[in-house]
Amino acid sequence: MAKLIVVSNRVSLPTRSGSRAGGLEVALRAVFNEFPGVWFGWSGRVVLRDAIETRTISGQNPTFIVTDLTAADHDEYYNGFANRVLWPILHYRLDLADYRLRELTGYLRVNDHFADELHKIIAPDDTVWVHDYHLMPLAKALRERGHRNRIGFFLHTPMPPVEILTALPSHERLFPSLCYYDLIGFQTETDSTNFARYLVSECKYASRDLTTFLAGGRSVTLGHFPVGVDIDEMQNWAARGRDSPLVQRIVDSLGNRAMLIGVDRLDYSKGIMPRMEAFEQFLVAHPDWRGRTTFLQIAPRSRIKIREYVDLEGEVSTTAGRINGSLGQADWTPIRYINQSYSRTALAGMYRHARAGIVTPFRDGMNLVAKEYIAAQDVADPGVLILSRFAGAAKECLGALLVNPYDKETTAQAIFRALTMPLDERKERYRTNIENMRKNDIADWGAKFLGQLNEADSELSLFADFPLESNSDDTPERTVTPRQRLQS
Ligand code: UDP
Repeated sequence: MAKLIVVSNRVSLPTRSGSRAGGLEVALRAVFNEFPGVWFGWSGRVVLRDAIETRTISGQNPTFIVTDLTAADHDEYYNGFANRVLWPILHYRLDLADYRLRELTGYLRVNDHFADELHKIIAPDDTVWVHDYHLMPLAKALRERGHRNRIGFFLHTPMPPVEILTALPSHERLFPSLCYYDLIGFQTETDSTNFARYLVSECKYASRDLTTFLAGGRSVTLGHFPVGVDIDEMQNWAARGRDSPLVQRIVDSLGNRAMLIGVDRLDYSKGIMPRMEAFEQFLVAHPDWRGRTTFLQIAPRSRIKIREYVDLEGEVSTTAGRINGSLGQADWTPIRYINQSYSRTALAGMYRHARAGIVTPFRDGMNLVAKEYIAAQDVADPGVLILSRFAGAAKECLGALLVNPYDKETTAQAIFRALTMPLDERKERYRTNIENMRKNDIADWGAKFLGQLNEADSELSLFADFPLESNSDDTPERTVTPRQRLQS
């Protein structure tokens, strides 16, 4: 029987259930609730090359198949090319990208290793769904091993404009290889359009609608599929979590102070420092609010082996300390800054209690925290979301107070507005947000993507009489015309 094989760098192993899940893992767990299958990825183990194993952990949904990496693989592929080159570039931070050919080689080597292991388990009718920037060339590696399956790709991060993509040395070796997928999904239309422009201007691939492209002898479709959250689940957790001992302790410790909450992985894309400075500006502009509000910033550490992340941690804690030192009082600390992570159920209870949620990334593919904050609100007395216009979530959360995170003054004004907003306006904004979010509930996300992927092959007919125009050296199946492929 045909199966769904989901592939991502990190898999949400049951043994790791105590640890924090990122946005990708949360979304993929929801997919398996609807579509049972196999989840393939890195085991989390770093071993000597001779000791590399690929193991199956079955007996549940999904069946996990995980493989090990060597220290050099992990260093070059994960800490190197994926997170010190691709992550900053995809978040518009060319200044932080630290390119080395050796690391690109390691990245390609790990993609080949994944393809070798997948090669052993893929059956001809299986659908393969690959996730995120770690695995862009995986479809190419699978096609080279003879697989003609439907293979889709979803990018959880933003896709920047062609001007940024082309600044990556060797971009020609990487981004065009995405065309070996049948369907490429993005979080927003802007991301999809940015990549379409790359395919037109850099690869000279033909397209009639900037959605379906003829890339060599293959057809590839681009689409946007915003990741959502399970609104009902979040509402239940929030209602229960509000009375949990943890949340009660937090509430008691706040006294009657209004709580502002931020929850982010400690990452430079999240804009945590300017957010704290905006809070500082708010307190300076509105001294009557001193002692009446507390900003709780939860920021679990991530990617701790990468220098930029170590530097960031120092800068953020220095900023929090400086603001607390200059504005705090003996009985009031303006910012509570903590690196501990919490379960999503605990977070739901905290969101419910917070008068405002503040989510101000410089760039974010979607930002699930923004949607989770909204979903956790009390319909009768909802809090207000302050949201960066540069988060993918801003396209749907139109009832949020949208801010430019580079503009601390306006963000400070938004904090004041959120904390003083009348109930009627809060309800109206909440309604707008929740109605839009219901259109993209998490259950729909997998169904929409996989539905379109399963139709992907027929798209080739659009190009049956279309002349091949590609001039890229990296085009798949160059000698096969669309009509030949359709007839074969
Ligand atoms: N999260 C969590 N515990 C924490 C902090 C975050 O479970 O202490 C979850 C959060 O609820 C959300 C995910 O991690 O579901 C973060 O996803 P998002 O899209 O906001 O950002 P990412 O970390 O994927 O960049």
